[in-house]
Amino acid sequence: MTSMIGALLFDLDNTLLENEIDAFISAYLAALRAYMSAHLPVDAFVPHLLQATQAMVANEDPNRTNAEVFDAAFFPAFGRTREELAPLFDDFYATRFADLRSLTRPDPATRSLLEWAFEQGVPVVIATNPLFPRTAIEQRLAWAGVPVDRFPYALVTSYEEMHAAKPNPAYYLEIAGRLGQPPEACLMVGDEWEQDVGPALSVGMVAFWISGPDQGVPEGAPAPAGRGRLADFARWVRGVV
Ligand SMILES: [Mg+2]
Repeated sequence: MTSMIGALLFDLDNTLLENEIDAFISAYLAALRAYMSAHLPVDAFVPHLLQATQAMVANEDPNRTNAEVFDAAFFPAFGRTREELAPLFDDFYATRFADLRSLTRPDPATRSLLEWAFEQGVPVVIATNPLFPRTAIEQRLAWAGVPVDRFPYALVTSYEEMHAAKPNPAYYLEIAGRLGQPPEACLMVGDEWEQDVGPALSVGMVAFWISGPDQGVPEGAPAPAGRGRLADFARWVRGVV
């Protein structure tokens, strides 16, 4: 059978890695704030971080990476340079970020699914919202049991790589462009309708919605090609790749 699928795109949190995201973000911000409190005015830290994050979400300038947008918004807010402060972030991710692992669990279907996908020779993309440095994504992939040193992903959408973010359809079009694939040949797998499935469908991608039976497709929205848990996707995808 000739495959219609030219690339598989996977969201990370609550798609490949079980991660109660509100609790995770709270713990992440608390840990980062505590680490930075020795170096920066602590009351301003989280507001400036969130404001710079919003600037990345709004980015769609093909000439500016999300990291460049973050840097331009964040560091001048403290009157400091990236060169001064970047080593602090690097050290946080090298020494503290791993403490958050206990808040996550690998989905039992993840590893065998990705082993199968690589056996098929289909390019695999980690399509997680590109608001984080590559190290934060690589560590979460390791927690999910599918580390970058074992799985040669075609693309991991970190903030250093990308020029748009979810839910902007430009993010999905950038992935397809980077792969040299038409959007129609890309299959996006994700758990959030607003961030993953809706915008992927809007640019013509095929989408599988990681969701429970109690979750409804939004009124008037197109139906995804399939839905269910990741184990359900693993069975379903064998019929289309
Ligand atoms: Mg997700």
